[in-house]
Amino acid sequence: MSDALSTRLVHAAGGDRQFGGVHVPIHASVQYSYENVDDLIAVFQGKAKGSFNYARQGTPTTAALEAVITELEGGVGTISFSTGMAALSALFLTLLKAGDHLVTSSRVFGNTNSFFQTLEGLGVAISRVDASDAAQVRAALRPETRIVFVETIANPSTRIPDLEGIGALCRERGLLYVVDNTVTSPVLCQPKRFGAGLVMNSLTKTLAGHGEVLGGAVTDTGAFDWSTYPNIFPAYRQGDARGWGLQQIRKKGLRDMGATLSSEAAHRVLIGMETLALRLRHSSATALALARHLAAHPAVERVHYPLLETHPEHARARDWFGSGSWMMSFELRDTERLVEVINRLRLPLKATGLADTRTLIIPVAPTIFWEMGRDARAAMGIAEGLVRLSVGLEAAEDLIADFDQALAA
Ligand SMILES: *Cc1c(COP(=O)(O)O)cnc(C)c1O
Repeated sequence: MSDALSTRLVHAAGGDRQFGGVHVPIHASVQYSYENVDDLIAVFQGKAKGSFNYARQGTPTTAALEAVITELEGGVGTISFSTGMAALSALFLTLLKAGDHLVTSSRVFGNTNSFFQTLEGLGVAISRVDASDAAQVRAALRPETRIVFVETIANPSTRIPDLEGIGALCRERGLLYVVDNTVTSPVLCQPKRFGAGLVMNSLTKTLAGHGEVLGGAVTDTGAFDWSTYPNIFPAYRQGDARGWGLQQIRKKGLRDMGATLSSEAAHRVLIGMETLALRLRHSSATALALARHLAAHPAVERVHYPLLETHPEHARARDWFGSGSWMMSFELRDTERLVEVINRLRLPLKATGLADTRTLIIPVAPTIFWEMGRDARAAMGIAEGLVRLSVGLEAAEDLIADFDQALAA
């Protein structure tokens, strides 16, 4: 999280070349026309890089956003989507077919888990394993395994998979390694360094950061050899193999499924990303101070925060991310007081969502993990009294004072 990064972030997108406006313009056109029809034909045949034909497949505004994300992830290309879930579902629906096998961490975002049930209904076999241990991933592999999927810091448990060990395993077996980088963002983690072939970011969260726009992105890091992937359609097995995966996701996922990010939304994400490094630095430092304070509080049973020495993957957070991020969860000693304590808090908003400028708090079991039921929660390691906290930009001392008054009997 150096200042150099902030420097890059405020200049990364460039501006409006035509009039000198300092922001990327919001391109509202759906159609793109050409003086000569030969040029239109070239666009359709993929021979005119950086040109547009129909906004469902992208606009100059979404392309500007995609270029910034590609640069931050150290990748070779990015596709933006209307939400993070649109990005994930397009990726998996495009690259998997009935009979294939997916290995995923058992600790994933609730809606991702729900989507995986849909994939199972379509005939994709799924193994859910404890990905903090790469040996468990290895044990789950089958000849039909196509993809291994993890989140950098699991929401809301804050557990960290063996990103490095799984990366080495995927390289050894020639498997596509997909990492959801939403919580860490490319500022804290470039999954490419662990060998991830595709990286997904929910733009809604850390990247945009103000809780007023939805978006998602898939970035190809260039680490995966697509010529070895069996599910690429013949139409996309042409030219440089490095482009095959994203080309298929753009055509089959974005174009055909149609969950396109609007130019207006892309513009908002770009504005939010200008302050990404500053926000992350502030909210992560505040989260650590609050985590330490809560961990020492007699009313608190347990705090889950990666940089606490009690966290099982503390060393991974320190060595790989140099941060614990803005997300934590905790359990009260007296779970009966859960609702009362949350209601007494004045600063945190009682709301779902993550990485807003405002601190957000939510009891997990009766809300975001309610639909799956008690047994599935237990299997995912979600305690019934778990509370998730997304730390915003308030001052640490104000949040600490607020928790002290709310926790006081
Ligand atoms: C929120 C979230 C998503 C989905 O992103 P949306 O933009 O809300 O669709 C996916 N993965 C993780 C880890 C998330 O926190």
